[in-house]
Amino acid sequence: MSAPLAFDNSYARLPDRFFRRLAPTPVADPRLIKLNRDLALSLGLDLDWLAGPEGVAMFAGNRMPEGAEPLAAAYAGHQFGNFVPQLGDGRAILLGEVTDRDGRRRDIQLKGSGPTPFSRHADGRAAIGPVLREYLVSESMAALGIPTTRALAAVTTGEPVMRERVLPGAVLTRVASSHIRVGTFQFFAARGDTDGLRALADHVIARHYPEAGTGAEPYRALLEGVIGAQADLVARWLLVGFVHGVMNTDNMSVAGETIDYGPCAFLDAYDARTTFSSIDQNGRYAYGNQPRIALWNLSRLAEALLPLLAETEDAAVIVAEAALGGFAPSFEAAYHGGLARKIGLPLPGAGDAELAGDLLRRMAENQADFTLTFRRLADAAADPAADGRVRDLFVDPTAYDAWALRWRERLGRDARGPGETAAAMRAVNPAFIPRNHRVEAVIEAAVERADLGPFEELLRVLAQPYADQPDFARYAEAPEGGGVGYRTFC
Ligand code: AMP
Ligand code: MG
Ligand code: MG
Repeated sequence: MSAPLAFDNSYARLPDRFFRRLAPTPVADPRLIKLNRDLALSLGLDLDWLAGPEGVAMFAGNRMPEGAEPLAAAYAGHQFGNFVPQLGDGRAILLGEVTDRDGRRRDIQLKGSGPTPFSRHADGRAAIGPVLREYLVSESMAALGIPTTRALAAVTTGEPVMRERVLPGAVLTRVASSHIRVGTFQFFAARGDTDGLRALADHVIARHYPEAGTGAEPYRALLEGVIGAQADLVARWLLVGFVHGVMNTDNMSVAGETIDYGPCAFLDAYDARTTFSSIDQNGRYAYGNQPRIALWNLSRLAEALLPLLAETEDAAVIVAEAALGGFAPSFEAAYHGGLARKIGLPLPGAGDAELAGDLLRRMAENQADFTLTFRRLADAAADPAADGRVRDLFVDPTAYDAWALRWRERLGRDARGPGETAAAMRAVNPAFIPRNHRVEAVIEAAVERADLGPFEELLRVLAQPYADQPDFARYAEAPEGGGVGYRTFC
């Protein structure tokens, strides 16, 4: 086979105990159902080859291209607060790394490609529904400008998978800056394997935080770098109403990308207590808990790094605590800055965080749709005659009126004109997010009728979340009843 992917596999060069080498398990009847052409081009890949028999065989795991060094990575992790010393890629296989057009190293990984030594008792496979869901939501996040893994391709396998019922099997090809997790560090720390820990930290510094490697305390700088990246990421999630749903430490990327799209979903009506995942019964990973949980996870990372942070444990703890102390200011700056921009204030001043918080409180009390409220607020900034379309979103519309008075008074003190303010607001308040009811309808069409038309259309709309797209306005609408009670089961 020719070598259309120029693999250079730095993870595969790490010590053997970092992973198990194995090939994906071939499937009966692979069919390409989606190829992400724009992403493929940005990776410098050959579209004809990818869409041809050899490319499809690679995406299905049936044939490995030259230069691939397939492996399942070992990691550990806290799942819902409980430490599991041995997790690892149970249904994912890393094919290798390529360099994209911007010179960035990118993992190419199959998900749903068969069992591995880390599968425990599960089948190593994925059903078509979760594959389409991850494809849509991760590509939507990318279009929203949020750091994320990407979807390169989806194939069906021609094989059934057993879930709550029999479903068509599928494999997703995922692209990421890396798949190294907080749990990867925990894997070595839990074994007292300081050499492994140091090799991993050096790899992550070289790959994701090269500037950390140039100073006197590279591991402290690494920890600070991950903390900053995660603080920024979680702020961005909150600003678009994203609920990750399963923020276990094995699902937190040290590169600061959103990873592991399982039970995630977007808010419809605003309520910070919202949790969608059927297995998150205590709301540990609820929308409003995400910053706290991110800090909790980062504390586990800091603990894992202790042997590298200083000569003595006491000194290392002081370094770790100082670094963790940087989370709150980073998060607050990103979140409050972003919230101010959402209400048309580019440079937050005194009282602005309180003004934005007051809006959120009124939205929560009145079951106002998160995305529609901010999007329509842009129209109201341009012209107060558009207030009606915002206030209609509130159970008690006067709750909006009282807030709008204060807001207009504040906007009036800003140098920008209404048109400019509205345009800036539309650039940060999306019209289109992957609404849960839309994602479900797409999956149903694919599973029940083998119809991928709805998937293609939704994907196209989500590619331009900040444009109005009047022909597709129905995709911006909230579900009947505000989506209350929606559950995810990944
Ligand atoms: P997650 O909750 O998606 O982060 O998965 C937790 C762990 O379970 C990871 O080690 C996964 O690789 C593994 N896992 C999830 N689903 C499967 C499956 N169908 N087959 C094998 N392993 C799985
Ligand atoms: Mg996971
Ligand atoms: Mg998962």
